[in-house]
Amino acid sequence: MNFMLLLHFASLLGGQESQAVSAPSREFRAVWNHSGMGAYPGDWERSAKLLAENGFNAVLPNMLWGGSAHYASDLLPRSETFKKYGDQIAQCCAAAKRHGLEVHVWKVNFNLSTAPKEFVERLRREGRTQVNFKGDPLDWLCPSHPANRQLELESMMEVARKYPVTGLHFDYIRYPHAACCYCGGCRARFEKESGKKVENWPQDCHSGARKEEYNDWRCRQITALVAAVHDEAKKLRPEIKISAAVFGAYPDCRKSVAQDWPAWIKAGYLDFIVPMDYTEKDDYFRRLVQNQLKLAEKKIPVHAGIGAASSHSNLSADRVQGQIRTARELGAGGYSIFNFDAKTAGSVEGWRVKSGE
Ligand SMILES: [Zn+2]
Repeated sequence: MNFMLLLHFASLLGGQESQAVSAPSREFRAVWNHSGMGAYPGDWERSAKLLAENGFNAVLPNMLWGGSAHYASDLLPRSETFKKYGDQIAQCCAAAKRHGLEVHVWKVNFNLSTAPKEFVERLRREGRTQVNFKGDPLDWLCPSHPANRQLELESMMEVARKYPVTGLHFDYIRYPHAACCYCGGCRARFEKESGKKVENWPQDCHSGARKEEYNDWRCRQITALVAAVHDEAKKLRPEIKISAAVFGAYPDCRKSVAQDWPAWIKAGYLDFIVPMDYTEKDDYFRRLVQNQLKLAEKKIPVHAGIGAASSHSNLSADRVQGQIRTARELGAGGYSIFNFDAKTAGSVEGWRVKSGE
């Protein structure tokens, strides 16, 4: 709708619509799909058609984890989903192409919760899984282990090489929490890189004199993977888009899970960012997006992540629309809605907000 027409309608409605904001010229309208199967297992065509018919132009399907893949991977164990329904990336890309949708393949990094038991046990024996402050083992890849970084990089590159994806999308690109990783490998690598032994391990690094230094080092382990994927993927296909789903509240996430996403933006590693602003509090949503836009300094678009059905929030379709309007008004480049699946497929029509509405 052009601006004059908008003014005209606004005047007809007694100014009620005067706060309507036009969408950006190329608004990113996406959904995350956690299952990797769309809303209808075995039928990506139906999902892609539904999304395109309702104004969406991108889908972010979760196709690989730290230790599982819903496609014909030569590096990661192939999932039950792959065995039952076939190659989900191939099916998703084919359907998306027919309906004009971008596909940004979402990887859950480091997390081994969907990996086969034998795979996790083998990695644990090789000293490649995380250990928390108390010494308990975690089913997460240790980000500082060179073989893990290589596996994470190569698995994302495998997707870029084999499939006509628009982009690669990071998620869980962080530690699980503040109390890890304190494995023997981390200690050795930290001591070597800092050139100084840790006198009281792990206390000095967890809460003592070297706490900040250790957290900076943890941030660099995560950032190194983002940098490596960016560098390699752009070498292979300069037009490929690199993006990340990140925690909404910064700088909290830098201190807790060592996720320093503004540093990734500054370094030029990302083409856009999708903070997970999952909340039922609209004023908090507004503050999050405002802060994110400020941090991104207009270097790349910020697409607001809206939690329609997340562990933190459940929003009716009209409330999803409200948050879309807020994101638009603040200057976000678009949005991604979590989560598109069988339960929410019926809401897709209601999530649609036309430009200027
Ligand atoms: Zn470690």
